[in-house]
Amino acid sequence: MEQAMAAANRDFLTGAWSRRAFFELAERELVRVRRTGRALSLLLFDVDHFKQINDTHGHAVGDRVLQEIVQRVEKEIRGMDCIARVGGEEFAVLLPETDAAAAMVIAERLRLTLAAVPDAAQIRLVPCTVSIGMAVRTEQESVADLMRRADTALYQAKAGGRNRIASAAA
Ligand code: C2E
Ligand code: C2E
Repeated sequence: MEQAMAAANRDFLTGAWSRRAFFELAERELVRVRRTGRALSLLLFDVDHFKQINDTHGHAVGDRVLQEIVQRVEKEIRGMDCIARVGGEEFAVLLPETDAAAAMVIAERLRLTLAAVPDAAQIRLVPCTVSIGMAVRTEQESVADLMRRADTALYQAKAGGRNRIASAAA
């Protein structure tokens, strides 16, 4: 999936896929899934209290937090998975051929990796956590509907106290 699209589709700040590119990649993956019948999962995550990070430490630090989040996630996901910046501090991770159990393994790995305190060699200056909404595509479901369900789950993760994962109802 990675090589299939040009660098112009990257988010300028973090190097993640752009929102537009993400929808194109997801639509392309959907074509494949309709044919193969394989599972497709989506993680939507959001940095907890990001406004507070910006307000307290300034936007330059906020930007570096976002950059480091993408670097950390990219080390933890497979080449066929992809991460996109879909909003200011909101990211989507598309997981082809990944069912609910596997998506939960990955979500938990990402949550822990991102919550870990940075060591001296890393660029992040402030600790932060993320809330994650997880959705597994149901039969006939469009990308927009999958996103909506992941977004509802993300809202539940936030409402449940943040730094956690919520799984969408089918
Ligand atoms: P695990 O880490 O507990 O992962 C369990 C299953 O979750 C994997 O089964 C796979 O179906 C899914 N999964 C986990 N992480 C990812 C991911 O980043 N992307 C995707 N798309 N799926 C993921 P699988 O493939 O049979 O792997 C079994 C075990 O083998 C894994 O258990 C892990 O311990 C090891 N493993 C497999 N590939 C790698 C790898 O590239 N790096 C590392 N460090 N371990 C790997
Ligand atoms: P990759 O498949 O692109 O995975 C990139 C990184 O995502 C891995 O780096 C690991 O940090 C994470 N990852 C992917 N799948 C899993 C998983 O199932 N469980 C866990 N815990 N982490 C996962 P890593 O470990 O340095 O591996 C680099 C590359 O080496 C992988 O790239 C893959 O091509 C290969 N590899 C490593 N372990 C396995 C394995 O058990 N089975 C297979 N088929 N390939 C592996």
